[in-house]
Amino acid sequence: MMMLLLLAALIPQQVLIATPRGQVSIPVTTERGAAAVAGVLLGQPLGLTMSLDGSALRVTLSEQTFEFDLQSPFVRHAGVAYPLVGAPYVARDTVFLPLQWLTGHLPRLLASRYHWDPRLARLDEVVPAPPAPAVATRPAVPPSAPALPLAAAPNPLTGLRLAHTVVVDPGHGGIDPGNPGMHFPRGLTEKDITLGIGRFLRAELQRRGLSVVLTRSTDTLIDLASRPTFCRADCDLFVSIHINSMPPGRRQTQVNGVETYFVSDAKTEDQQRVAEMENDALRFEPAATIQHGPLGFILNDLQLNEYLRESARLAELVQGKVAAVHPGEDRGVQQGPFLVLAAARRPAILVEAGFATNREDGAFLATASGQQRIATAIADGIVGYLLEFERKLAIGSGGGQAR
Ligand SMILES: [Zn+2]
Repeated sequence: MMMLLLLAALIPQQVLIATPRGQVSIPVTTERGAAAVAGVLLGQPLGLTMSLDGSALRVTLSEQTFEFDLQSPFVRHAGVAYPLVGAPYVARDTVFLPLQWLTGHLPRLLASRYHWDPRLARLDEVVPAPPAPAVATRPAVPPSAPALPLAAAPNPLTGLRLAHTVVVDPGHGGIDPGNPGMHFPRGLTEKDITLGIGRFLRAELQRRGLSVVLTRSTDTLIDLASRPTFCRADCDLFVSIHINSMPPGRRQTQVNGVETYFVSDAKTEDQQRVAEMENDALRFEPAATIQHGPLGFILNDLQLNEYLRESARLAELVQGKVAAVHPGEDRGVQQGPFLVLAAARRPAILVEAGFATNREDGAFLATASGQQRIATAIADGIVGYLLEFERKLAIGSGGGQAR
């Protein structure tokens, strides 16, 4: 899920483990998306032991136990669960542990014992009080330099203390125009409006000190399967932007307003319609890219379920902010089986920022000021969500508070 400071930097190809017993370089793999290290390689340098019981994985070091689950991107320590970018996994008979745990959670939760230097990609084990005879065992780094990301001064604009990266995905593009935009002037289509809002959103988030990755910054087509891959290691959340439309019929031009989706099985006919419309972008893609199998399979992925609650909360905050500045109705938070969201391994939402089939919505969406207001409102929702998340982290990290 959310990143700590370490992921604001590039993923190192290897990490150096430095202890009073010696130094070892451990390779980092990103074969499953999120960066990971082979647990067995940490055994000797860190005195780390692992036990696997079904999917339950216990990791012990420095007399502390960390509980993982092979299917769940969380680690539990002292009764508190902390989100991870990716779950630990077994490959080639080897258990791989999330790098984020090693370089983020471990030095933060056991700050008196471990220190992570992201610049050097180096984890130091600090010996607390040198036992009498051990003259040679000098701490590699003084304990006065602990990694305490939450102690960083808050950003004056947002109050956020951690570095965050948001992936912004302007829907459609290139040969896929999205919906044609009955009420957009000058031949504008959905893809132009989503790109406009996406660029404003990038500018707004950057102004507030967040890092932003746009899946496209020009009129190009990114296939649906690739869009979520922009949100991997260095990404806290994924926001896809689209414009709605109603099919021909009595209510076609009347329906208006904004709604925000997170991924799940569609519950109503209307939700199903929107999901089918957005997933329809698949027909612009080469057949080779459509190999993700039935959505049901993706949804059954337990790891994805862990993000649903977070996605729903993000959707709620963003929807509230956008609805407040939108000329149309507040159509609320919706659920739908969106392919573009299903593959993201982060809280992921899709904002349907208004109806191109409604005159007032269309006019609002086609103006730069309308796009900017929507982008600013989405940014408000995102920052609100991240603040909540950081608060949870601060509570979870102990920080002198009772457990
Ligand atoms: Zn769309």
